[in-house]
Amino acid sequence: MPTAQETILEISLSALEHNYRHLRSRLDKQVKFMAVVKASAYGSDVISLARKLSDLGADYLAVAYTCEGVQLRKAGIDTPIMVFHPQSTHYHKLIEFSLEPNLYSSYNLKAFMETAQNEGLREYPVHIKMNTGMNRLGFSLDQVDSIVQLFNQSKELKIASVFSHLAASEDWREREFTLEQIHLFHKIGIKFIQGLPYRPLFHILNTSGIFNYPEAMFDMVRSGIGLQGYGNDPTRDINLRPIATLKTIISQIHELDTGASVGYNRAFKASRPTRTATLPIGYADGIGREYGNQKAGVFIHGKYAPIIGNICMDMLMVDITEIPCKEGDEVVIIGEPQPASKLAAKVNTISYELLTQIASRVTRIIID
Ligand SMILES: *Cc1c(COP(=O)(O)O)cnc(C)c1O
Repeated sequence: MPTAQETILEISLSALEHNYRHLRSRLDKQVKFMAVVKASAYGSDVISLARKLSDLGADYLAVAYTCEGVQLRKAGIDTPIMVFHPQSTHYHKLIEFSLEPNLYSSYNLKAFMETAQNEGLREYPVHIKMNTGMNRLGFSLDQVDSIVQLFNQSKELKIASVFSHLAASEDWREREFTLEQIHLFHKIGIKFIQGLPYRPLFHILNTSGIFNYPEAMFDMVRSGIGLQGYGNDPTRDINLRPIATLKTIISQIHELDTGASVGYNRAFKASRPTRTATLPIGYADGIGREYGNQKAGVFIHGKYAPIIGNICMDMLMVDITEIPCKEGDEVVIIGEPQPASKLAAKVNTISYELLTQIASRVTRIIID
């Protein structure tokens, strides 16, 4: 592995391949795989991930917004791409780049249908999102008949898939609620199948759903965090490999006397002679101030160095009194032995948030 000479996010495509194959191995052969690469592929590197996933055979890619899909098309990726939350002001671009919208409300469906008529589209693939209890986006069960009717009268659009989203697939305490969501989705599916002259794909599982509700894999699954190497549960994590490692180096070392302070507002005061290291990474890089003041730490030569004082915009300081190390040495922030899930938990957040916060100015290095 290359040694860091600045702050870098190292991304392993072989770890990605391992995760993809593991997730796929849990599915029935004919079940399709939608690789979710929204938000720069969870803060990693969207182009290299999308390319690799397409090469591995992912049936679909998914992004949140139209501009994210356009970026993939401009990079030459021709795998079908679904846009979870397209905004009507971008419908024209969406069509120009052959992206497939998620339609989730009557307003939204009518607006897209109008665009489709104006542009003279024929059987353009769209996806219908159903609300089964998340109460975020989606049609309700009692709207299915009118949706079906609209599509049966439309030459412009065709339903490629009908889907829903689980609100708590990683939480066993909400098992009953999740099973109700799945049950409702079954009912919805029957209505669509009875009403349409063709059969769209049905899907409801995200990563934790794949692990915890395999009986509901339907025709396709949608996985994002699992591809990143996280299963939202230590017993699932062991089968996955985090693809991203956030590393930096020691910029400078200071020897402090008792009573000396560190950083803004003197938030840390040495209660003993203390050795500190300054690292070139701060809250503008995605390590927020909440991680400061000993809440969290980094690893240097495998040893834990707590973050001391307030995290600055571009730097943070750690206590290395007990760690033999020198300026220029490598520091691991996210990576063995501190996966993103573990670091995030220290400030009561989740791997998703920590990973997607890693700023674009951090150099991405693709390995394997
Ligand atoms: C983000 C997202 C996913 C992926 O969820 P993971 O937990 O990362 O696997 C799937 N479906 C929808 C609708 C999403 O917004």
